[in-house]
Amino acid sequence: MGNNNTTFDAIIIGSGISGGWAAKEFTEKGLKTLVLERGRDVKHLKDYPTTNQYPWEFEHRGEIPQKIQDENPVVSRCYAFREDAQHFFVKDTEHPYVQEKPFDWIRGYQVGGKSLLWARQTQRWSEYDFEGPARDGFAVDWPIRYNDIAPWYSYVEKFAGISGNKDGLASLPDGEFLPALELNCVENYFKDFVSKNYKDRHVIYGRCAHITDPQPIHLEQGRAKCQNRTLCQRGCPFGGYFSSNSSTMPWAERTGNLTLRTDAVVQSVIYDDKKEKVTGVRVIDSKTKEVTEYYAKVIFVNAAALNTNLVLLNSISKRFPNGLGNDSGVLGKYVAFHNYRARVSGQYEGFKDFTTDGKRPTSAYLPRFRNLLKQETDFLRGYAAGFSSGRYGKTNTDGFGTTLKDNLASKEEGMWSVGSHMMGETIPKESNTVSLDSKKDEWGMPLLKINIDYDDNDEKMVKDYLEQMTEMFTKAGFTDIKTSDSKQAPGLDIHEMGGVRMGNDPKTSMLNKWHQMHACKNVFVTDGACMTSTSTQNPSLTYMAFTARAVDYAVQQMKKGEL
Ligand SMILES: Cc1cc2nc3c(=O)[nH]c(=O)nc-3n(C[C@H](O)[C@H](O)[C@H](O)COP(=O)(O)OP(=O)(O)OC[C@H]3O[C@@H](n4cnc5c(N)ncnc54)[C@H](O)[C@@H]3O)c2cc1C
Ligand code: SF4
Repeated sequence: MGNNNTTFDAIIIGSGISGGWAAKEFTEKGLKTLVLERGRDVKHLKDYPTTNQYPWEFEHRGEIPQKIQDENPVVSRCYAFREDAQHFFVKDTEHPYVQEKPFDWIRGYQVGGKSLLWARQTQRWSEYDFEGPARDGFAVDWPIRYNDIAPWYSYVEKFAGISGNKDGLASLPDGEFLPALELNCVENYFKDFVSKNYKDRHVIYGRCAHITDPQPIHLEQGRAKCQNRTLCQRGCPFGGYFSSNSSTMPWAERTGNLTLRTDAVVQSVIYDDKKEKVTGVRVIDSKTKEVTEYYAKVIFVNAAALNTNLVLLNSISKRFPNGLGNDSGVLGKYVAFHNYRARVSGQYEGFKDFTTDGKRPTSAYLPRFRNLLKQETDFLRGYAAGFSSGRYGKTNTDGFGTTLKDNLASKEEGMWSVGSHMMGETIPKESNTVSLDSKKDEWGMPLLKINIDYDDNDEKMVKDYLEQMTEMFTKAGFTDIKTSDSKQAPGLDIHEMGGVRMGNDPKTSMLNKWHQMHACKNVFVTDGACMTSTSTQNPSLTYMAFTARAVDYAVQQMKKGEL
């Protein structure tokens, strides 16, 4: 791959979940496409160095040494930053940023971006989610509704491979599912308990991007059935879960229309003041620092939410002195995230005869039930919750030789443990911003300055989640119930969104209903930066559907000579 040509039909910035989809769609439609990725190449299978390692083959038995943790406190707070996957994470020391307020920015700079690291939970948005801002007046109205995006959810689900049950819930529309992954006995008990005791609450089998029954389209991608190893963050030798590396990027490569340039840091998008349009992008080679310009008819910015903001803020011209397309002044504002602070845990005395808790890469999910049909609490919007149960027991690791073996073999089973974590919607606010700092990184890019915080709405939501979940746990007969509020900084949810929001009105938004910049028609943003509000669902499935839809529109416009 790679050629000396600098002119393409389409340029995509970033090769993560959304950029990978843009690459697949453009190349499949016959367009010569350049993907610019700031990190190194990571080839499916070949570049997963730990994928088949045994626990004892890790120098630190899976742990990150204290020195590395001390030097990289932000990324060390991410649960998946462990010895087996540390090479896919950005270390704090490698790419600094400015925290005006504490913000844990978790990044993956390589081909595939964070698609190698994600927890693969995938839920559609519902009509209630798209209507949210219009109903309560916080953030601007979405320029699209569920029906606009529903066919595109189906389109991406079939290709990516999403497992789940058809639950028939208006708050969480069903999709094109492969068979769901099983819940264990206690999770099923809680599911039945909630449906019998709460008419508006449901516990469902977690929907996730894992192939449970490979279809011809998955086999064609070279992917096979998930084996429930739950070592996904190492890269999956079976292609059992969806990542850009196992799915969209190799698919795009096979068309012969893809050029991939790695180690290519996009510094800015070029607006030609004379031609009055965007003509291409300016790239710095991360190793040689050489600057190259690439040109195309259409640019998709998919650098992940905050980096997309950074690239656009840094794209200055006479026409756009405050960032590309920023006539409204909202670029970098109304950034939001998910509130993952609260947890509730407990124990269950039942099911003593059952010792198998089921190894599978998902768990149970409680879709949002607050303020769905009407405003019913003293906070806006709502939260979803994860629920899982396990029988962990106690292992005695005392002794040596035969004594150690005997001790390991006589594990005390203990009671079933249960746990839930909150996934709350936050309200996009003008005061939650990202902007350019005066300090620059070693490639001459301004550091991103992040000024994002919780508000009173988030505090009330945490309180309600803890109360409601405690009530459900108590009624279900769980004991030893403990609640906690980690007060973790925003960002650790890894669902940062906004700053380049969609909307009908160019005075208050950056993008129209096709993800096209109001002020620069050949620039599109389909990653988290485009999000007008955040809802509670894990966001990546929505980015995939948005991207496929926007590429389809862009190509139609190109054929008509409009772009
Ligand atoms: C541990 C973990 C668990 C998660 N769990 C879930 C989950 O269960 N469900 C879910 O929906 N989401 C989950 N996420 C979030 C999910 O990974 C992201 O939403 C998703 O990857 C975003 O896709 P993206 O294309 O916007 O960005 P990314 O996948 O991050 O890709 C962006 C790419 O752009 C590149 N890039 C950045 N700046 C530049 C530049 N200037 N020039 C060139 N290239 C650039 C980066 O190197 C990167 O490769 C999780 C994330 C993590 C880390
Ligand atoms: S759980 Fe499935 S997807 Fe994850 S590593 Fe295992 S086989 Fe692969």
